[in-house]
Amino acid sequence: MNGHAHMGFPIDEVWIDEDARDEPLTGEILRRLPSCRVRTGQDAIDAYERLILESDPFRHGKRILRLIRHRGAFVKPCPGTKEHVCCGLQILHIGQGCPMDCRYCALQAYFNRPALEVFVNVDEMLDGLRQRLTTDPNRLHRICTGEFTDSLALDPITDLASKLVHFFCQQQNASLEIKTKTDFVEPLLDLDPRGRVVLSFSMNAAEIASNEERGAASLKRRLQAAAQAQKKGYLLGFHFDPIIPFPGWEQGYGRTIDRIFRAVDPQGISWISLGILRFVPELKEIARARFGPLPYFHDGFVRGLDGKQRLPAQRRIEIYQKLGDRIRTHAPETRIYLCMESPYVWKRALDMKIGKDQDLIEYLDQAMRDG
Ligand code: SF4
Repeated sequence: MNGHAHMGFPIDEVWIDEDARDEPLTGEILRRLPSCRVRTGQDAIDAYERLILESDPFRHGKRILRLIRHRGAFVKPCPGTKEHVCCGLQILHIGQGCPMDCRYCALQAYFNRPALEVFVNVDEMLDGLRQRLTTDPNRLHRICTGEFTDSLALDPITDLASKLVHFFCQQQNASLEIKTKTDFVEPLLDLDPRGRVVLSFSMNAAEIASNEERGAASLKRRLQAAAQAQKKGYLLGFHFDPIIPFPGWEQGYGRTIDRIFRAVDPQGISWISLGILRFVPELKEIARARFGPLPYFHDGFVRGLDGKQRLPAQRRIEIYQKLGDRIRTHAPETRIYLCMESPYVWKRALDMKIGKDQDLIEYLDQAMRDG
């Protein structure tokens, strides 16, 4: 056992890229992981070559932290597609990979880089952000960390979220969304987010959370974290994604929705998103190899224009309707949104006229303006 200095996920090794050695964050991380094996230079390269030859590099890679400099843009638009209405979210890349191991996780199919990567050039990250906000000063920038990672999973080691909250609480035209399945909110509770930070939690039916979301905090702990954060002035978001239509899904998801509204004040919820399981075909095989066959990756899914497998629209509409109604019985004004759906589905599922990206962008921006 290592890592008594922090309470996060266990890390066995830290691999440091040559040009990442002198970054202050590298030093901070090493201080928080005093008993880890550290590899640099050729040693790290050799270890990587060995890792990718293992039978499940992904699993072992979840205990290896790679410290690197990010070279490309730190802020990028969320990869929407033209067939779907896009929410205009921008992604702040803080790293990639996740120490949790949800069986349905899409990252399994996307990455041939099995270790957990942390971008340690934080000054450049903040410069990139600053630049993004000043070159486009008239729009509201909704920015989220955690597209290719969980926003807080490595935070006990990196302490990055506090730095970001500190940065965002001073901005006029931007908001930060921190999206997680952990309850690592403690360091954030002493900061004043000044209405600029949404802490959001990925939620699921209890059946899915406890069986499929390996390593994630229990729903109870996620909700406790949400309630604590709300008391300290954070806005909240909840994401039901992926919604998995297992037998009993309606009761399962319904119960989780009820729990949310028992735990927190609906006034402070910026949004609740709904997204039904969709996957690239390879994911089914990759997950099968790692976990055995998963019943929810079945043949009822059809290939969409973007190459992803989805349930037929009629079935998706039914599911969204049920969950949307359940949310609205608790709080009719809750801002619900669908992830990557067409205007037709929006209309049928939620009776909302969201015809183009700009409609959805304004709908969600409003959450931050009201806040
Ligand atoms: S928490 Fe998210 S990123 Fe991490 S394993 Fe689960 S689905 Fe993947």
